Amino acid sequence: MWAVFLGAYLGVLVATLAMSFVNLRHQRREGRSVPPELEGVVEPERLARIEAYTVDRARVGMLERAVSGSVTALVLFAGPLGAYDRAMDGVGGGFVVRNTAFMLGLVVLSSLSGLPFAYYRSFVVEARHGFNRMTKRLFFGDFAKGMALSLAFTLLLCSAGFWLVRHQAGTWWLWVWLVFVGFSLFVTFVSPYVIEPLFFRMQPLDVEGLEREVKELADRAGVHVGRVQKMDASRRSAHSNAYFTGLGRVKRVVLFDTLLEQMTHPEILAVLSHELGHWKKHHVLVRTVAGFALGFCVAVAVYCLVDAPFVPALVGLPNASFAARLVVLGVLGSLVTFPLTPLGAAWSRHDEWQADRFAVELAGCAPALASALAKLSRENLANLHPHPFYAKFYYSHPPVTERIRSLRGLPV
Ligand SMILES: [Zn+2]
Repeated sequence: MWAVFLGAYLGVLVATLAMSFVNLRHQRREGRSVPPELEGVVEPERLARIEAYTVDRARVGMLERAVSGSVTALVLFAGPLGAYDRAMDGVGGGFVVRNTAFMLGLVVLSSLSGLPFAYYRSFVVEARHGFNRMTKRLFFGDFAKGMALSLAFTLLLCSAGFWLVRHQAGTWWLWVWLVFVGFSLFVTFVSPYVIEPLFFRMQPLDVEGLEREVKELADRAGVHVGRVQKMDASRRSAHSNAYFTGLGRVKRVVLFDTLLEQMTHPEILAVLSHELGHWKKHHVLVRTVAGFALGFCVAVAVYCLVDAPFVPALVGLPNASFAARLVVLGVLGSLVTFPLTPLGAAWSRHDEWQADRFAVELAGCAPALASALAKLSRENLANLHPHPFYAKFYYSHPPVTERIRSLRGLPV
């Protein structure tokens, strides 16, 4: 049992590393020419920068995956998980306190173990390619705030969850799921007021006349957008992006200030039309509901499996606490769902195509959207030559060349 589980774990780890390697090699082989869709936007000098950046990022990504994957394997399969679990018996308190303490310790350990790589990414890789704008003070401030939030959420959810497990023996799966749904909705609604201000300053769009045009566009789309905001992303990074978020009355479009600096007026409106498409086509709602349905399945599966003797046996332990069993089931779940990664990615790409088509129908902005996408990928040094299999497996957005071809009415 132990050997099979270890084999599956290492198999998935090796598969992800191999895919990154193949993707990198593909870029090094094919990445010498500018794709015709981006001619005139990306110059050969820029292509060399893209290659250097892609190589640097892929290398550090693979190193991190190899190191963290090996450390996790050691912790799970070679004894430390069992030792940590037994040490938690010393915490005292009842079922709720002991298992919550286990989870809190795990959050601290996993955040700290990711810190060196996050630091290297920002201050070496991103800095080398001119993207990093973060000071060390800001970096560690973000880390401390992120850790405090994770600990607060873990404390809240785990103590409530473990209490329900203890006191609602036959039905806790339902109550835990309801707590999860309620908490997710609560966070969605309070995040713009409580969580985001910890990290970013949001401002109204201050581009001359844009606010009015945005409102007109949203009216024409029949979408009630609560707010369109500019985020001061430039304090941390020169990367540019836009996203949509929220449900009901708190719907928002957030544009990075870096994006606003790079784009012309029609390009910004084209990007906004695309984001409006995500609402009009109910992508946010469907995704939220699907997330809740998935959470329901997870709660039922955990309820059915958590007490089974095979759970600790998977990592070679004779016994394990409830919390340690959850960790093992979590790893098992990630292995089982790994082959489904391309399905999630394909679903997301399907939504992106829909939003692109919606933008064109709404605002007739195909040329502006095409040039906005070209600029985005140029400014962010996006890999223009992903391996087709890698893109199919992981990409949440269609490759930019395909989107531009489609916007120009060319076959994809
Ligand atoms: Zn999109």
